[in-house]
Amino acid sequence: MDIRHKFWIRRWLVVAGLMILTSCVKNPVTGGRQLALISESQEIEIGTASHPEVLSEFGAVEDKALQEYFSRIGMELAKVSHRPELPWHFTLLDTDVVNAFAVPGGFVYLTRGIIEHMNNEAELAGVLGHEIGHITARHSVTQISQQQLLGLGLGVGSILSPTFQQLSGLAETGMGILLLKYSRDHERQSDQLGVQYSDLAGYDAEQMSRFFEVFESMREEQGEAIPNWLSSHPAPPDRIQATRDAAIRAKSANPGRQYKINGEEFLTRLSGIIYGENPREGFVEGGRFVHPDLRFQLDVPQGWKVQNTKSVVVFAEPQGSAVVQLTLAPADKGQSPEAIGRSIGQQQGIQLVDGASSSVNGNPAYLGTYRVQTEQGILGVAAAFIAYGGLVYQITGLTPEQAFSRFSGLFGSTLRSFRALSDSRILQVQPDRLRIHRSRAGETLRSLAGTAKSPRITLEELVRLNRLDPDQQLAPGTLVKLVQPGR
Ligand SMILES: [Zn+2]
Repeated sequence: MDIRHKFWIRRWLVVAGLMILTSCVKNPVTGGRQLALISESQEIEIGTASHPEVLSEFGAVEDKALQEYFSRIGMELAKVSHRPELPWHFTLLDTDVVNAFAVPGGFVYLTRGIIEHMNNEAELAGVLGHEIGHITARHSVTQISQQQLLGLGLGVGSILSPTFQQLSGLAETGMGILLLKYSRDHERQSDQLGVQYSDLAGYDAEQMSRFFEVFESMREEQGEAIPNWLSSHPAPPDRIQATRDAAIRAKSANPGRQYKINGEEFLTRLSGIIYGENPREGFVEGGRFVHPDLRFQLDVPQGWKVQNTKSVVVFAEPQGSAVVQLTLAPADKGQSPEAIGRSIGQQQGIQLVDGASSSVNGNPAYLGTYRVQTEQGILGVAAAFIAYGGLVYQITGLTPEQAFSRFSGLFGSTLRSFRALSDSRILQVQPDRLRIHRSRAGETLRSLAGTAKSPRITLEELVRLNRLDPDQQLAPGTLVKLVQPGR
């Protein structure tokens, strides 16, 4: 399940659905004519509309200096690109997923997961240049046009309320990935543009091809099941070599030129950044989802998968036939759980079957059963609205109506398991953080890993983070990434 992309994809579709044919436009990179339903100002509209949704899904890394640094490097690349005049935005997202993506109109996102795997500014410039290339060459815009021509504008004009949209979003995931996935030709072109922009901005573009080796090692380790950069960026087989060749060609055109790599500058800035998942924002332990910052817990049905993002926690039945999701209820300030539960039942396409005020583990609550009309058919829904800690939580179990009797008992027990979290060990948990270590004579990654005393961080992870042999003697003064365990 990939709920990470659906919000902005949906918004794209909605925005795109409102657009009219604008015929052929000149491609800024190739200069050729291409069929496009979307003008440049509409591209910017798509990006501007999607941006808040990307932020609500992932959040931005809360480190002003790091964000400014990131934007500065991004702007250096954007200025030498084919479309310097776009309103470029560069945002570091607060997730450990290793990913980078671009939204039309000049919006570029990298995750902290991806930059933590980089070793210098030139690698960063290469990946930024690649993503900028998807925008300047209008890759996504071409895809939207082609999808629309094929009549695939699904999801537009959904009657679902925002409350229940997330389930239809799950159903559209296949569509979202289809839209997102670039072609190998687009990847090849973006790689070449990444080299070109890096080189023009004065970076050693060969570093970019070295960074691609990270993805190779992740592919071996994790397969291709996870929704990361690999799933949206299909790598042409000769990608590393082709990128390296292009970089060497670019460099040989300017013999004697000094290229920037800026390893120390880059690594120093990563010091202290959160590494891995931030447990303060929720994790699964002992069959429960616990949330230290919001001080609540909720039982996870046995064997169900859990996905936690900034705006929603989803438990999914392994076959995907039912989900339970937890969000904050869309409440006006001071609205009671009952008022919220009843008003949802009055929305178009939603019928409140029955409901009653109640209490869930001592917290004021409203429990209701609903029928929801969607494009995929009628859903049976059990929902709880629970006032706790000054907020109202909405926990919703959803399944096709014909399966509702099978899941209603499980929905009920899950909804009613919402309760305060009081385990002080969990309440005090702290995230792991990257620590930049200046090595001393005789040290190796293996010897340093032994001193970290963190069962969560394996030597393999340190090897991948630093791209160093575990037993290689580090030159004194070399900066290496270690992980400072949280509590
Ligand atoms: Zn790409």
